[in-house]
Amino acid sequence: MTTADAPSVGHDTAIRNYQVLVRRYAQLLDLVRDLTSALHLNDLLERVALAATRLVECEGAVVLLRDPLSGELQVGATTHPGLARLRVREFPVESSLAGQVLARGEPIVLSSEALQRPTTQSSLRYYEVALLAPAYPQSFAALPLVSKDVCIGVLEAINRSGGQFSPEDMATLEALAGQAAVAVENMRLFEQSDLIAELVHEIRTPLTALGTAAALLDRSDLGEIQRHSVLSSLRQEIARLNELADEFLDLARLEAGRARFQPTRFSLTPLLAECAEIVMPLMHGNGLKFVRQFDPEGLDLFADRVRIKQVILNLLSNAVKYNSPGGQVTLRARRNAGAPQGDGESCSIEVADSGPGIAAESLPHIFERFYRAKEGEQRAQGTGLGLYIARHIVESHRGRIEVDSQPGQGSEFRVVLPLANIAGRLPG
Ligand code: ADP
Repeated sequence: MTTADAPSVGHDTAIRNYQVLVRRYAQLLDLVRDLTSALHLNDLLERVALAATRLVECEGAVVLLRDPLSGELQVGATTHPGLARLRVREFPVESSLAGQVLARGEPIVLSSEALQRPTTQSSLRYYEVALLAPAYPQSFAALPLVSKDVCIGVLEAINRSGGQFSPEDMATLEALAGQAAVAVENMRLFEQSDLIAELVHEIRTPLTALGTAAALLDRSDLGEIQRHSVLSSLRQEIARLNELADEFLDLARLEAGRARFQPTRFSLTPLLAECAEIVMPLMHGNGLKFVRQFDPEGLDLFADRVRIKQVILNLLSNAVKYNSPGGQVTLRARRNAGAPQGDGESCSIEVADSGPGIAAESLPHIFERFYRAKEGEQRAQGTGLGLYIARHIVESHRGRIEVDSQPGQGSEFRVVLPLANIAGRLPG
């Protein structure tokens, strides 16, 4: 090759790369249109992972989102067969490639040699690289999902077919990551506006009741007894509106990620005793028998104590509200052999009541937002948000909440949470 040839070879390559990019951007435009038609976040994330896999022709991709509450990196979707098989739900922020990208806000691209070397911070390989051992990935690209200057997640592409990720691949993935971040934020905003629409719907009923009460109080022919009754329902509706406002604000903060959890290590037994003391006057006031059965010691959680207390108090107050006269409430806690979502140990906190129970058709909806069972509506006031918030809190702690109920025989709610010493990377 003569020196005179060199510019023309470079020129040809540049034109080829340019053509690849133009073709890819045309493809990208189609894919972005596809992203905007997704109806749910999971659906959207799956489309992003698929788009990345197709655009740069790699073995698979994974989309991770930073959980606004816990700060953890959670797997939203993956097309990588190995990762999909392993069913990994989370990547550790401190030791994964995705965690590095999240912290720096810059893309990282690794060749096969770089992937075989230990990370600079420790003698360990990056989490996702070790996860795919023994067939170590040959090439890896990880890019931040940035929206309004905040890194909300990471897009990873694994094993470019036939080689390493090129600068053109990275440019394509960056364009996709940018669009994906905007689409995720839009999806979250839509979900928020749905929440507001539901709230407006929910406040209509108490507002109508307040209007009717005000009109009645205006009447000169209203007797003293009627006036008292109207005032009492007016106070009830105001209390309901207050409760709705408090719970709605709590939920909005949780969903927007503004309320961050503050996990500490604590023993469950004293917390249960505290909850029992708080609800004791309610139990006595309603003539209910309160039974407590929990292990004296040894159930340590690493969790947000205030939030776990909120969950238990919600279940206990429901057990009082939806009970029958002279009924019973039982609070139990015990150690289980398995963790809520895998190996290890967990504990169960159970709240059982002897009320009329929940109809079979209501059971599947009981943890939904603003859901109130017809049979419970006449029994007690409420907002239909308590159990939805409780589920949100429990699941954010890698736990689960469930209910068993037989109409006429009461209900039993169960919260399963991982114990501190076995809860994955939580301190032992
Ligand atoms: P709220 O009690 O404010 O309506 P929740 O989200 O706490 O809201 O509960 C949702 C619905 O589930 C209630 O409206 C009620 O119909 C039903 N429910 C909850 N706990 C019980 C229980 N222990 N027994 C029977 N029904 C219950």
